[in-house]
Amino acid sequence: MPARTGAELLAGLRDDREIWVGDERVRDIAGHPEFAGAAKGLAAVFDLQYAAAEDCLYPDPETGEPINVSHMAPRSKEDIQRRHRGLARIAEHTVGVMGRTPDYMNVTYAGFAACSHEWAEHGNEAGAERLVEYQKLLRRKDICLTHTLIHPTIDKATDEPLRTDNDAVLRKVGDTEHGIIVRGARILATLAPFSDEIAVYPGRPLPEGGEKFALSFCIPMSAPRMRFFCRDSVASGPNRFDHPLSSRFDEQDAFVIFDDVEVPRDRVFIDGNIDVYNQVMTRSWNPNVMQQTMIRAQTKLEFAWGLATAMAEAIGDRSPQSQQMLGELWSYAQLAASAVRAAEDHPADYGNGVLFPDQAPFSALRAIMPTWMPRANEIIKLLGSHNLLATPSWGLMQNPDLRPLFDHYLRGAKDTTAERRVRLFRLAWDYAGSALANRVELYERFYLTSGARNQQRAQMLANRDRATRLLDRFLKEPID
Ligand SMILES: Cc1cc2nc3c(=O)[nH]c(=O)nc-3n(C[C@H](O)[C@H](O)[C@H](O)COP(=O)(O)OP(=O)(O)OC[C@H]3O[C@@H](n4cnc5c(N)ncnc54)[C@H](O)[C@@H]3O)c2cc1C
Repeated sequence: MPARTGAELLAGLRDDREIWVGDERVRDIAGHPEFAGAAKGLAAVFDLQYAAAEDCLYPDPETGEPINVSHMAPRSKEDIQRRHRGLARIAEHTVGVMGRTPDYMNVTYAGFAACSHEWAEHGNEAGAERLVEYQKLLRRKDICLTHTLIHPTIDKATDEPLRTDNDAVLRKVGDTEHGIIVRGARILATLAPFSDEIAVYPGRPLPEGGEKFALSFCIPMSAPRMRFFCRDSVASGPNRFDHPLSSRFDEQDAFVIFDDVEVPRDRVFIDGNIDVYNQVMTRSWNPNVMQQTMIRAQTKLEFAWGLATAMAEAIGDRSPQSQQMLGELWSYAQLAASAVRAAEDHPADYGNGVLFPDQAPFSALRAIMPTWMPRANEIIKLLGSHNLLATPSWGLMQNPDLRPLFDHYLRGAKDTTAERRVRLFRLAWDYAGSALANRVELYERFYLTSGARNQQRAQMLANRDRATRLLDRFLKEPID
């Protein structure tokens, strides 16, 4: 089956999945007022595959059918560039505001399957084979995947390292003729209401004795007794003038309770094998998936710079302090673009002839992005000030009695019309100030774990050779 269209995605959401929002169980995801905008927004991402087929699609290596390029396992620098173009098209479509468009998980599973030798170690050959078979299904059926990695927090004083008597955490509680039974919670699953299936794979390492927690699998969202509780919606109504981003990009986040769920054997990739669980996220996953997520982040920063610059122009703000902030924002976007290029230009071989970009530039971006993204929002708010709030709705702008007033009092500098100005500042509010903006800022701070943890990780993985050489010259040179 070739890549799916948006209509096919929406049709697939009609099943028995258990999705709650507010105090309501939602039966019709695509028709529910709090989900309809993002469902359409995600459907547009699927349609984009055909609208931008030259960048987004490539032939399945076995069937030749056109599938999304995010399923590719790069084997050359050209492949990495080919994948870059497809990922950039998707990132541009949502200007990076949707963090978990399906390409994130497609890239992750393409990497898992291409480096299945990492999953086959420590006696997990059968799990690795099942994973490879599953990835074929994922790419050929164009399955939209959500995922959940993080254990629920009960008491931070005692949760870590994970105690083996913790009965809140997702764990295996039994075997059946056809698979295993799992019970417990995992937090969070972004994109859950709009996905076809959910993936569970390792987050942080498990302690000795934690075999029952060592699980990895993928199952359909409609699996019986799997319960999803969405946070309050931050989606707005459908008007794109009033809410250009929150009308279509609230990708949702849900916490998941597995209330004795059966996972079929052919969908289980790790079953109690702690050694493989603690290892599979430590090698190729990071340099592979970072290409997707840092192209998204870079696109978002470049959009923020373009938006902020247009805002300043609209109100004739040429003050040195505003130009300084715009230059700061441009620097983030430019540094991110340079780091992505540097990583892609120096790929490393991860086995089986599979190449992923250089890890070091991505480690630096991963450590610093949780600081840059909130700062980008702050700059937009500082530049926008009260202007962010003087923005009549589209309905008011259409009122023939009021429109002349808006055209006169809300016009901007030079030839900036009131309509352009209102549109710009509404976009800026939706990007940096709205309920959606606040959720997205939280996402940027935490989706790859916190900046604090990632800075420690960057320091741990950093290559010290040159720094040591520079230092040693002074420490080891003869004194006289
Ligand atoms: C909007 C959103 C969407 C998400 N979507 C998903 C999803 O789809 N799937 C999924 O699996 N997970 C998802 N997550 C969860 C995400 O993976 C976790 O929030 C993330 O791993 C952070 O976990 P934590 O709270 O344990 O953070 P921690 O890294 O423990 O950070 C918590 C706090 O402690 C501080 N801190 C941590 N370590 C140190 C230290 N050593 N020194 C000093 N300070 C420290 C941090 O700065 C932070 O303030 C999402 C989270 C958010 C916010």
